[in-house]
Amino acid sequence: MTDAKTYDCPSPDCSFIAGGIAELTEHINTTHPGEYKREDWPDTEAGRATRERDRGDENDEE
Ligand SMILES: [Zn+2]
Repeated sequence: MTDAKTYDCPSPDCSFIAGGIAELTEHINTTHPGEYKREDWPDTEAGRATRERDRGDENDEE
């Protein structure tokens, strides 16, 4: 067991799980180009983390 955090792809049609926010961002940029910028992009933890990865000090409860 590790404390490594994983990030589920926020796309409802995708079951990709990234091992880090950078990997998730790369996956989204590669697999869902432009999709994450949509207004209706799911407001999931991963989606917020992707958009707010330079902030990341909110909604940190799990
Ligand atoms: Zn995906």
